[in-house]
Amino acid sequence: MITEMSFPTRIVFGKGAVREIPNHLARLGVKRPLVVTDRGVVAAGLVARLMGVLEGAKISFATFDAVEANPTGETVVRGLEAYRAGACDGVIGIGGGSPVDAAKGVRLLATHPLPLAQYDDAKDGWRLVTNPMPPMIAIPTTAGTGSEVGRSFVVMLPETGRKTVVFAPPLMPSVAVCDPELTYDLPPKITAATGMDAFTHNLEALCAKGFHPLADALARKGIELCGRYLLRAVKNGRDEEARAHMMIAAITGAAAFQKGLGASHALAHALTPVAGVHHGLANAIVLPFVMEFNLGHAAAALAEAAVALGEPPSADQDHLARRAVERVRALAGAAGIPSRLRDAGVKDSQLPLLAEKAYEDASHLANPRPCQPADLAALLHAAF
Ligand SMILES: [Zn+2]
Repeated sequence: MITEMSFPTRIVFGKGAVREIPNHLARLGVKRPLVVTDRGVVAAGLVARLMGVLEGAKISFATFDAVEANPTGETVVRGLEAYRAGACDGVIGIGGGSPVDAAKGVRLLATHPLPLAQYDDAKDGWRLVTNPMPPMIAIPTTAGTGSEVGRSFVVMLPETGRKTVVFAPPLMPSVAVCDPELTYDLPPKITAATGMDAFTHNLEALCAKGFHPLADALARKGIELCGRYLLRAVKNGRDEEARAHMMIAAITGAAAFQKGLGASHALAHALTPVAGVHHGLANAIVLPFVMEFNLGHAAAALAEAAVALGEPPSADQDHLARRAVERVRALAGAAGIPSRLRDAGVKDSQLPLLAEKAYEDASHLANPRPCQPADLAALLHAAF
């Protein structure tokens, strides 16, 4: 079997890294970027910080700040209109996964025709991404999705009725500017949910089917960092060391999941649109149940995860794998994540539709144990 492995993202990392942005715009030849963001990021004062840097360097820009959580295709089109109206020549996405993903969508549509649904990864839409796109800078303000180093974005489309993944290697941002200082004021609940999303990326990538030792090495490191620093970041948002390491864990997670994800993400991709559960929270709740389901099919990877989380090494792989499940339950609990879906607003009556939508999601295809619709339904019932 032949595997393709790629880790080419240019990452500018460190406290105060946003100050480097004018240099990168100049290098990329961008004279007038469109800043894509959401109102929460604006209200947190983070866009003002970016604008201060741009204005200080006398760079003119336009702003589109109407991205909602889990952006729709319509929002991406409105962002494109702002890009055209502003006569822009590059895109800056600043925020959590939603604004960074919407910025990728704007960038795609700047040089590719509608409709967005034709780029659906489930239909190998990457083949249609052939034109050069304007440069993009991604600035994460959470440590979670890792979209800043990813080659895909997720968008809600009426044509598919689900969170639709658009994947194409050229969608990787031209540069990711990762400044941990932008995450210092994130509230504990968001820190916990986004941090558990990063953790789930690392863990599902490590367990995913396929041969990708580079992804595995990153995933082990990411699991270790989350085990050490997630609770510190939740308890004290100004813990600089913890914030910096969580931002790295988000990067390793997204770089590692080019290997594949698993059933947790299939379930989470249904839980957000159907039941309104935050993506990271959804993953955090279902992950221990998915790990239990995978015992016996991913014992070696789960044993490695346990050791990365601080479990003493042992020759008894099955014991270590079970310990990994216990450690993940304890980590999520200590971070304040509820243990059941019913405590996150999910209704009993939604479970059949959730199982159906989760099965339609391609993420479970990489799960180490094959998932039938009945398996996903059983996982949902267990987690409920
Ligand atoms: Zn995720």
